[in-house]
Amino acid sequence: MLRNIRRSIFALIAPVAIITTSLAQTTQQPPTHANILRGEYGRYRANNDLLFYHLDIRVDPERKFVSGKNTIRFKMLKDDTRIQLDLYDNLKIDKIEQVFGGKDTNGKPSELRAIALKYERDSGAVFVNFPETLKAGRIYTIDFHYSGTPQTIGRFGGFTFGKDPAGRPWIFTACEGEGASIWWPNKDQWKDEVESMRLSVAVPNGLTDVSNGKFMGATDLHDGYTQWNWLIQYPINNYNVSVNIGKYEHWSERLNDLSLDFYALPEDLERAKKQFAQAKGMIEAFQHYFGEYPFKKDGYKLIQAPYSGMEHQSAVTYGNRFANGYLERDWTGVGISPRFDFIIIHESGHEWFGNSVTGADRSDMWIHEGWTTYLECLYVEYMYGKADGLKYTNGYQAKVQNQRPIIAPRGVNATPPQDQYFKGALFINTLRSVIDDDRRWWMLIKNLYQHFKYQSIMTEDMIDYFNRETKRNLTPIFNQYLRHTAIPRLELKFDDTAGTVSYRWQVDEQGFEMPVRVGTRDNWQIIRPTTEWKTMKTSLKKDAFQVATDLYFVDVSKS
Ligand SMILES: [Zn+2]
Repeated sequence: MLRNIRRSIFALIAPVAIITTSLAQTTQQPPTHANILRGEYGRYRANNDLLFYHLDIRVDPERKFVSGKNTIRFKMLKDDTRIQLDLYDNLKIDKIEQVFGGKDTNGKPSELRAIALKYERDSGAVFVNFPETLKAGRIYTIDFHYSGTPQTIGRFGGFTFGKDPAGRPWIFTACEGEGASIWWPNKDQWKDEVESMRLSVAVPNGLTDVSNGKFMGATDLHDGYTQWNWLIQYPINNYNVSVNIGKYEHWSERLNDLSLDFYALPEDLERAKKQFAQAKGMIEAFQHYFGEYPFKKDGYKLIQAPYSGMEHQSAVTYGNRFANGYLERDWTGVGISPRFDFIIIHESGHEWFGNSVTGADRSDMWIHEGWTTYLECLYVEYMYGKADGLKYTNGYQAKVQNQRPIIAPRGVNATPPQDQYFKGALFINTLRSVIDDDRRWWMLIKNLYQHFKYQSIMTEDMIDYFNRETKRNLTPIFNQYLRHTAIPRLELKFDDTAGTVSYRWQVDEQGFEMPVRVGTRDNWQIIRPTTEWKTMKTSLKKDAFQVATDLYFVDVSKS
């Protein structure tokens, strides 16, 4: 998703002193108890592996009330008597039960029975205690019943009971920042995902719920409500699970054997049909670079929503006013963004990076946002050619702040800075220039995606992949861009009498070396600076000597 953009634009025009102070506070303040509980992959999370959720809820727009249960199936990895789940404290736990049966120990059908479990709540965490030790390797099921009015907070709304422009209920979830436990009970972290999930959402007759996965039919409950059933047949991260409840019109298309389903309000139907037509080209572009759309059995959906947009898996939400660019702006300011709908391209790009390949900790969210921003650049290259792709990419340079490292502290629910998007994409573009062989680059990034699809990974996994595949040590380059604040600075010292230039990298990272193109635009020459001074002959004077700063995101100083 796109986050923090509006806030950071304000930060840019705010006095420098204020930025420095608030930065010092964000970096120095110890994480809160709640953020440690949410962020840490502690013992009571690590002792189990999620298999399946069935979230079965009723949403009452009149009372602004949600009630129901999540059935949670998990496999124990270690013997233990307790697991950690999460649910915001303002929501009530009605009961938590361990469910037995369905099959007896000989595999024969047996009666279902349930026993109530004890639990303790602490700052959004729910520790569930079992009367007998759960055994490693065995599969267990609990039903977690809850109810209440979820909070409407965060940039996108968390859980919002809203109204559409015609005054009908329009209810949605968008909770990447706050976490899914803002509206339903789950193991609210990024590392462990269920392998599949069912969603049953009961809403008043006449409204539609569009959620993730494959539509499994609507059932009239004969009490004024209809239950909408969805089946997610792939791993899914919690924040992607969503409901979109409204008076939706629906139409379908196909792209070869992939089903495309679109949902918009009746009044916006014609505009939506025109704008959503961009989805096909987007999918073709990303399939070209990375391979098949990741959630084919679930299909691709694009759903109108009242906020800018969110990458909800196989159910991307859209609120970009049916216009190209981003909220009618030329997003990277170089005249290319107005050719396409930023939200359709960006949020759907997350299907490959964010939803299929997922960061295992919020600290490494650039795996979602840096890569998906780079996917925008690839979309431009696919549609309009390499030169425009490069122009679009470098339009992002103006948005980079270099105030904090892209990778945030691990295990404390920390949010990385906005640089994860723009600097992240410029770094990946730099890496392409370091590889310096486009055929190899296309193979590397396609295989990267294929290697890690449907997995939760850390930056180290990605670095290992690149090092292994290229047989090079690219770790210092990754580290300088992702784990330090500054970008590499190429220091150049000219000696006009001797006709030489001396050069070295000024960086934080030990052992840093990176090739770079220098000279003139029509006659680049690759040099291989390290952190030690090297000298070479040049016929170019200081002013004429250029560095290819569109291919490598670096600073240059000349003296
Ligand atoms: Zn995003």
